[in-house]
Amino acid sequence: MLSKLFAKRTKTENPSRLQGLFPESNYADNISFGGGCPDESLFPSQALQAAYQKAVGLEKSHSFQYHDVKGPAALRDYLANRARQQGIANASADDILLTAGGQQGIDLVAKLFLEAGDEMAVEAPSYVGALAAFDNYEPVYHEIPLEDDGVNLDYFEEQLKQHPAIKLFYTVPDFHNPTGITMSLAKRQRLVALAERYDFVILEDTPYRDLRYHGESLPSIKSFDTEGRVIFLSSFSKILSPAFRLGWLVASPEIKEQLVNLKLAADLEVPYLAAGTVAAYLADNDLDEHIGQLKQVYRVKLDAMAKALKTYLPADAKISQPEGGFFFWVELGDEIDTRQLLLDEAVPKEHLIYVPSASFYPNWDKNNGLRVNFTGSSLSQIDEGAQRLGRILSPAQLQ
Ligand code: PMP
Repeated sequence: MLSKLFAKRTKTENPSRLQGLFPESNYADNISFGGGCPDESLFPSQALQAAYQKAVGLEKSHSFQYHDVKGPAALRDYLANRARQQGIANASADDILLTAGGQQGIDLVAKLFLEAGDEMAVEAPSYVGALAAFDNYEPVYHEIPLEDDGVNLDYFEEQLKQHPAIKLFYTVPDFHNPTGITMSLAKRQRLVALAERYDFVILEDTPYRDLRYHGESLPSIKSFDTEGRVIFLSSFSKILSPAFRLGWLVASPEIKEQLVNLKLAADLEVPYLAAGTVAAYLADNDLDEHIGQLKQVYRVKLDAMAKALKTYLPADAKISQPEGGFFFWVELGDEIDTRQLLLDEAVPKEHLIYVPSASFYPNWDKNNGLRVNFTGSSLSQIDEGAQRLGRILSPAQLQ
């Protein structure tokens, strides 16, 4: 009964976006297309163990001490260099803030810009964890629909004219979570021009950026930013290991300084044992070579999932065609409720987990879609899981 004392922002009719997202399923033949999990067999475990030993051994007991909030300089140097290689001109170690996963970066940016009732725009659908973070700051959301080449900017500009107070736009331009869509080059450039004209900030969240399996890489939105309006956010979770809880952002000095203050207040510093281990790994290993190995395996899985979904899902299912990342998005007729199907059919009868669409929308109001992950499953699970999904969604089943 102490809940009457809880802050108003926690009192929502909706379930938690992240807790309960993946229902319990202990069946031996369970297949999960749910979470955005990397393929465990691809973690470079031995190299990471050696890196940990080195990180701890090098500095002896000093490793176990408090450190600077910004994290090891060697790691920020490495990331600044990587940012410059990716077209973010002049990025320096001082522009980088290490965060507790990309998730903390989203939370800190939300904390910096959003007061209750402030207006922000998001892609619809959007990454569920970002919405969970934003929800806590009680913004007024404007939902901008996605097209095959990224967010609909004509629609967005209309919204900006009608709602000039929009101050923040959150986007996942590369292999979007949940849809897998990539924003075109022209849209990246126009988006920055819109931010300048209508005075808002862009949070460019790109944990999948390096994981392209087909086609040519595109410049980041941040690479077109001349006014410091774009915050570039990425993470080691998908390209190395999520267990380090290590992400980073590149921001202009004005923004970064405030984010440092907020990070100090939140958790004082990035865990040094994680950051030191990753720094030691990067000193002795070629991250791009490792990413190359991931891409070889994930390319085969992506192609297998594309084929399996096309083969087994009903002909009228609209299936996205990602060129990288971790996810496919499926849209079905309006009569279909994927949340209900998950609980009534998928988990208990087919032993299959996917993520229903509702949690990817600010108002939980679209029930006819679902997200499937393909990186965490084996090739045979991909085929078998898609067959099960096909049965769940088949017209006979739904009558
Ligand atoms: N942003 C996006 C788009 C994601 O998909 C994820 C992880 N699923 C994150 C941020 C957060 O990941 P992490 O905190 O592990 O870096």
